[in-house]
Amino acid sequence: MKALCCGFAALGRVPSAICFVAAGLLRAGAVAATPQPTDFGYGHLGMWDSPAVGTRPLVILLAQFDGIPGTLKTIPEYDRLCFGPTNSVNEYFKAVSNGRFQWTRAGVLGGVHLSSAKSLKYLDKVADPCRPGKDNDDRVYSSNIVAQVLAANAGSFNIASYDANHDHNITPNELQILIVTSEWESREGAGIRWCAPVVLPWAGVMISNAVCAHPVIWNGARQDFATICHELCHELGADDLYPPTCCNQDMTVMGCTLSDPDDPHRMYPDPWHRMVFGWCEPRIFPLTGSGTAALPVATSGEPTSPVLLWDPNNPSLSDFWLLEYRNPQLGEYDRSVPGTGLALWYVQQNSDHNLVILADGKRMNWNMGPYGPDYPWPPPNSTLWGSGTTTDLLTHTGPLGRTAYRVRVHEFQSGDSSITVEWFPEVWVDFAYAGLIEAGTFSAPFNTLAEGVAASSPGGVVHVKAGSTPERLVLRKRLTLRSYGGTAMIGR
Ligand SMILES: [Zn+2]
Repeated sequence: MKALCCGFAALGRVPSAICFVAAGLLRAGAVAATPQPTDFGYGHLGMWDSPAVGTRPLVILLAQFDGIPGTLKTIPEYDRLCFGPTNSVNEYFKAVSNGRFQWTRAGVLGGVHLSSAKSLKYLDKVADPCRPGKDNDDRVYSSNIVAQVLAANAGSFNIASYDANHDHNITPNELQILIVTSEWESREGAGIRWCAPVVLPWAGVMISNAVCAHPVIWNGARQDFATICHELCHELGADDLYPPTCCNQDMTVMGCTLSDPDDPHRMYPDPWHRMVFGWCEPRIFPLTGSGTAALPVATSGEPTSPVLLWDPNNPSLSDFWLLEYRNPQLGEYDRSVPGTGLALWYVQQNSDHNLVILADGKRMNWNMGPYGPDYPWPPPNSTLWGSGTTTDLLTHTGPLGRTAYRVRVHEFQSGDSSITVEWFPEVWVDFAYAGLIEAGTFSAPFNTLAEGVAASSPGGVVHVKAGSTPERLVLRKRLTLRSYGGTAMIGR
């Protein structure tokens, strides 16, 4: 079911006037037009300047290191894991992209045994001419595997056939490479690795690009489903969302994933990544007054299932909220999400739509869930808002100070295919306030209770700073009046 709010449902339509008169808040500097998904970065991430839609050939290269712990699965097992018709990496990408992106099977190549001296653990560091001051053991390691495995399979795998533009240089847009090795003991787990140019004279091509670098995914130490999906998302430009610790655990495939080779964990990417990949178009609502929306479950295949809330007090659109419904019962590829209910992602990005990164490495794409019953664990970025709950404050810092909202999750059953949420402002009143602009925010409050009540939506909260007013009012809607900083006297 698609959600309706304030009379408009379809993306990009002009909202009806009732949306904007509902709250009656003064919105100096507000953006008049409703922003579009591209204003928030829709479709801006991709692989090597190509959007993350359509198809990309993917070849999987297997390398067994002898003399150190670890054993590869068989080629058919990797084939099924990555390209099988069900419960496979490729079906995962088809599902999470709402059918907009898939890898095409170039092949699964193995048959190579390498000595432990070529393993990452034992490889000597060598100066990297392309990156002064950096060692290039990763590059040597990766390029050696690429060269060895392709040479061993030269009779059956036609690498030159992937040189689509016939420039004798195979780029990532023409063929993507996933390396899986047997190496269990290494100084790192998994990741994108830069590969030195690999010249293949027997095929008349090289694997390289103009900047002397080529990304190869290396899943050497771990071969689990979620980690393979995680690294392939990196190939599309995704950011890690787990720094500084394993944050957002199981809330997004861009959290920590390293586990056992047969680890059953599966979880969707967060809605920001799905949006910037061009895989979903969140419905966009301004935080003016209250609103209601149904959220089909993230696994529904409905590209407009998430909701994006933005604050017109911040015309730069540099921060916003993404709301989505997650349910591990309703989708094979999101079965490990920790709970059922509303995920509330807070995003801060720069003018290029890249995530803001804090000093500790934290990317500002952050699920703000409730603390668990055993406070402070689980951490709030790995929990969801359940049936009948009301979230903490959503706060933005705009030119008029804080605009504060909460989201209430209507009651739902655990197997429901969608949930309904409503958002409503919290209004501030200070009888002593003498500023020119009254916006109902903490720092630019209304100075009469009547104004605060008029600006509130049913079910909202009016915070009244300590003081007194002779006003006498009859409340005709459901509100909570809450004093702040001391006693607030009304009618005296
Ligand atoms: Zn990563």
